[in-house]
Amino acid sequence: MVMGLVAVVAGACAPALELVGDPTTHSAAGEHAELDSPPPNTPARVASRATAAGAALRHDPIDPHEIDETPAVLDARVARARHCADGRSSLRLQDDLRDLSDMQAWRERARAFVRCALGVDQREGAPLDLQVHQETRIDGGVTRLRISYALGDTYRGQALRVPAFLFVPATDHPVPAVIVYHGHGEGKIAVAERENTPEGALGREIARRLGYVVLAPDSRTFGDFGFAEHGAYYRSLTSQNPTDAYIARLAGDGERDMRVLRSLPGVDATRIGVAGVSMGSWRAMLHAVIQPSVQAVVISALYLPFSELFSPIHDPCQHAPTLAAMLGMQDLALSLSDRALMIQWGGHDGAFSARARTLLDATRVAFDAIGASDHLHVDVDPDRGHEFGRSAAPSFLSNQLGPGASEVHDP
Ligand SMILES: [Zn+2]
Repeated sequence: MVMGLVAVVAGACAPALELVGDPTTHSAAGEHAELDSPPPNTPARVASRATAAGAALRHDPIDPHEIDETPAVLDARVARARHCADGRSSLRLQDDLRDLSDMQAWRERARAFVRCALGVDQREGAPLDLQVHQETRIDGGVTRLRISYALGDTYRGQALRVPAFLFVPATDHPVPAVIVYHGHGEGKIAVAERENTPEGALGREIARRLGYVVLAPDSRTFGDFGFAEHGAYYRSLTSQNPTDAYIARLAGDGERDMRVLRSLPGVDATRIGVAGVSMGSWRAMLHAVIQPSVQAVVISALYLPFSELFSPIHDPCQHAPTLAAMLGMQDLALSLSDRALMIQWGGHDGAFSARARTLLDATRVAFDAIGASDHLHVDVDPDRGHEFGRSAAPSFLSNQLGPGASEVHDP
């Protein structure tokens, strides 16, 4: 089956709520909906709990007025956000969800907004032109392919291609697939074989241990991408268009990654997961939000309030302040509450700030309040640093996505 799959790849062308944080802060629009006091033990009461959960999360607002350099830039971002939100003043759960029965509609509004705000819908669907450049057998009955595919975007007049590793287990039936996104560093090679990195060779681990197909692409400017001017590149995007952003380009690139997986006969397209660490965590979060067919999500070492993630503490390549005009990080997590989300932090991770801990606690409260606590899995290891939880992540993915190739054992 491996060889058959390789051939196809080669030929492919196409509770009682405790309020947490500061309740006095405001949404970007400086206003939010107030609910009438509902009677107890009614659907409205449940809705009120959801609103209370939202109130618990008000420590995460980011006022675009505080982060933009000029009024013109601010106006452009706010106008873009308003356009993408169909004129609504806020898409935060506490502002925009009036009843839990509307949860699915809220999730879809949030996803449509993020897709629009990131410019994903503006990307053109160029042919994939998937090519296999190298094939290597590794242990565990897994073949590692070095592949590339067209990105559907250009830089300095050159058409860009995504270099990636594709791990393919020996199997006679379709298996789950997981995309693993790297952080700042060497790129996909860290996902594939570097154990002493934040990525910790998690891609290889998932392929060998679970018998899953794993796609590990380089992100723009990393690894074998062909140009390495990381800072100059992301600054050029935002300077040309204030609503553009490096991380938004990466989120859009995920469409290509999904097309690769869907083109493989050995992949069960109903069982797709995504995992990312550090910058890759943020990329994985956005990817899952805009790709509703992703069923399981691992966010490792970067689940932060926008007010912190979009501050100078973190590389501006990760800034997407247009999003912050309408929602917060916790809203993105809540938009995944019909799927399975694992949030990982290490106790020794310098990025795991006090505000990150508060956000994590508040997110748990919110998932509980909307009756989705079974969909949120929190893995905090006091002994871990800024890295994947390499034991918990595969176990979570296995539990969510089911069996892989035949030799797979339940971890
Ligand atoms: Zn960066």
